[in-house]
Amino acid sequence: MNFIVLTIFPEMFNPFWEHGIIKRAIDRSKILASAVDIRDFAEGRHRITDDRPYGGGCGMIMKPEPLAGAIRAAIKKTPLSKRILLTPQGRRFDQSVARELASSDGVILVCGRYEGVDERICHDFIDDEISIGDYVLTGGELAAMVIIDAVTRLIPGVLGGKDSAEKDSFSESVLEHAQYTRPSTFEGIDVPEVLLSGNHQEIEKWRLETSLIRTFLKRRDLLENRCLSLREIEILKKWCHDIEKIVYDQSIHGPDALSGG
Ligand code: SAM
Repeated sequence: MNFIVLTIFPEMFNPFWEHGIIKRAIDRSKILASAVDIRDFAEGRHRITDDRPYGGGCGMIMKPEPLAGAIRAAIKKTPLSKRILLTPQGRRFDQSVARELASSDGVILVCGRYEGVDERICHDFIDDEISIGDYVLTGGELAAMVIIDAVTRLIPGVLGGKDSAEKDSFSESVLEHAQYTRPSTFEGIDVPEVLLSGNHQEIEKWRLETSLIRTFLKRRDLLENRCLSLREIEILKKWCHDIEKIVYDQSIHGPDALSGG
């Protein structure tokens, strides 16, 4: 998969390409990645890429000509790549968008700066607009890195374990189960015994339960939209039963019941 980032700060990407999973993916030719300087497509000695907004107002706007030149050059290199503008006004990036992009040939990520890009760039040069969340960054570079990172780890063969990405949070609309590593006791807290038991069936059961519990407590919305398996329904029913029992016992024997309150 080919990632081309169009930016006025290409140097920001050097440390990004040179670390961790991204570096490994590049070294193993799982991805091609480059950052192209939009200034290379700007006219004049000063290679200016921004100008004042028509109609007045504060801030500067990225000029359309350098952006168009940079996008055209990127299309020449990877004609099948999707052209994506990073903008807080775009559709929200999440794991399903990451999956969608991971199955494409490549992406050309256009990073805005200042008050954003001239609107005319969106007409013929952009296929999609993506936001990484409802907040405003000073530029699209961090958003591009977030997308490249999340997409790269979904490309087959990039992660070490065969199914590491499949079990991640969100991949099945639930959060991942709790994780522990050595030592088995840390500051008085033990690793759950079942994880030391070697009983893989019990470990799987425990993982499914903690995954459901965490999703219920932290992201109930995910659970509400999930198509539950029979096993998951059984687990949830058991909790309901246990919770009902606690509530029932407390209402009969609890302090309020005893004081008649
Ligand atoms: N004035 C613009 C607006 O209100 O929509 C915001 C411009 S922002 C200061 C500058 C650039 O940062 C944008 O053009 C975009 O490329 C990038 N950016 C800012 N927030 C972003 C977000 N949440 N997701 C993706 N890109 C973002």
